Amino acid sequence: MHLRIDGISKAWGTSTALDRVSFNAGASDFVCLLGPSGCGKTTLLRIVAGLTEPDAGSVHLGGRDITRLPARERGMGIVFQSYSLFPDLTAAANVGYPMRLRGVAVGTIATRSTELLAKVGLGGFGGRFPDELSGGQQQRVALARALAAEPALLLLDEPLSALDPAIRAQLRGEIRTLQRSLGIPTIMVTHDQDEALALADTIVCMRAGHIEQIGSPRDLYERPASRFVADFIGRANLLPTHFVREVMPGFLERRPPGADATWELCLRPEDIVVEAGPGGDAVVADVTFLGNLARARIDWRGQVLLAELPGRSMLAPGEPVAIGATRGAWVAA
Ligand code: ATP
Repeated sequence: MHLRIDGISKAWGTSTALDRVSFNAGASDFVCLLGPSGCGKTTLLRIVAGLTEPDAGSVHLGGRDITRLPARERGMGIVFQSYSLFPDLTAAANVGYPMRLRGVAVGTIATRSTELLAKVGLGGFGGRFPDELSGGQQQRVALARALAAEPALLLLDEPLSALDPAIRAQLRGEIRTLQRSLGIPTIMVTHDQDEALALADTIVCMRAGHIEQIGSPRDLYERPASRFVADFIGRANLLPTHFVREVMPGFLERRPPGADATWELCLRPEDIVVEAGPGGDAVVADVTFLGNLARARIDWRGQVLLAELPGRSMLAPGEPVAIGATRGAWVAA
């Protein structure tokens, strides 16, 4: 179902949490709201959920204006960071709860709960209480419960952030597979760029209450619209024009018009080419060997570049090198 957010603004007292935020999400999109702490992600998700009222703007789901509709009538499944299961209900009863509220027949609830628990990898765990489950398992139950209401939209607020890294990576993959197979449009809040890159069809990159850029993970990585996006997503070398003019003049041709100070060239570390040889005018500052790759810091007259090279490269600190780049993107400084 298509979601349209139009001109949403929200202030808390005198501080603006959201300033005219608009975006669309397609029928089975996985959208990640990504941005640093305090940029307004959760506020936006809560407005979509109907838990917070916006000061201005509208929310449409499937063509219907739901801006003033109470949360319980929106048909959305929500999973929060804290597992928020009912502690005195078993996993199966937790999953069955939304169906019970809707008056679904007891037999159907039992069958559906068993199916949903199996879907999230918890077949056989239906009789356990939340305190008999690990954090990752509890979050799976919360996910199954959110799916039980057959939501028109699934909302996930940092659902993985309380989990340890291994479980987190595993559950991340499972959420993606499940979301694809069910085709439910999903909005997830995260401040973790890796999570957003791995999960999203569309990333909405936010900063201080507004949207910096919307696009696919690849768009944002390869064509960041601003220094902020370039820096926030992945590693970036942000290089001033005078450096580009002297070292990689070929890139100047594609620079948008404007004064030197208004643009920087964003080079991803893996796009930097480093060639050892006495003619080079840069020097290897240090190299960190990471197995499959090596991270080198290259110093060109005080401008330090981070380069990622194959692990087998034999660069050594102090070695003279020439540098180039296979691709780059100009970003507003
Ligand atoms: P985080 O990643 O830390 O959760 P966030 O991007 O989700 O951050 P929000 O929780 O949406 O950010 O908060 C945006 C701004 O609004 C922050 O400055 C926050 O302090 C403020 N804020 C959020 N909820 C309230 C509230 N109920 N009352 C007052 N201010 C609030």
